[in-house]
Amino acid sequence: MIQIGENAWQIPVMPRQALNCFLLGDVLVDAGMFFSRGRILAALQGKAVGAHALTHAHVDHQGATAAIARALNLPVWCHGIERNAVETGDVTGSFANPRALTARLQQRFLAGDGHPVARALAEGDSVGGFEVIETPGHTAGHISFWRASDGLLVAGDAALGMHLLTTRPGMHLPYAHVSWDMDHVRASIRKLAALGPRRVAFGHGPAVPGEVFTGFAAGLA
Ligand SMILES: [Zn+2]
Repeated sequence: MIQIGENAWQIPVMPRQALNCFLLGDVLVDAGMFFSRGRILAALQGKAVGAHALTHAHVDHQGATAAIARALNLPVWCHGIERNAVETGDVTGSFANPRALTARLQQRFLAGDGHPVARALAEGDSVGGFEVIETPGHTAGHISFWRASDGLLVAGDAALGMHLLTTRPGMHLPYAHVSWDMDHVRASIRKLAALGPRRVAFGHGPAVPGEVFTGFAAGLA
């Protein structure tokens, strides 16, 4: 695990930090792919974990959600808009076009099991000492986690910290073909930048200093 702040850890589940989960306080945020269960459980060994929250219900974040929630008996939390996808395991609804090939392939080969949602999260809720920030765009119910006391922001896939084909670190917009609405993507990045983060962590790629993120936001068309 990589410590990204006080009581805040990044759990890389793929090489080069290409895919990350987080332990924020006692809350596991995101759960990698369906094959990430063992790696995440190993990382959480000896840590107090009381709940599992999701930034959004894509297959690379909900993959091991049900398996880990069952293994550790954790309540699962997500934004209300993501609730149906998390509970049913049908993640196609979060795509702009649920019938698109990417959506159907991901559903068929990569989607994790559904699991009941114990708590629907919304703007301003407290999770593991962080504040929920609604950041729709990549999915309609995407959320980020913000801690004003030290300026730590866990942005999920609101933006990417890495090019996913080359795995080269750097700021990118989430890809349009797997995103719900790109205008909302840009608006949410600006909303996060306006918080003035000092450090920003992502679902994909290594964490960056706040000014890298805010500079990226300022350069958006
Ligand atoms: Zn992702």
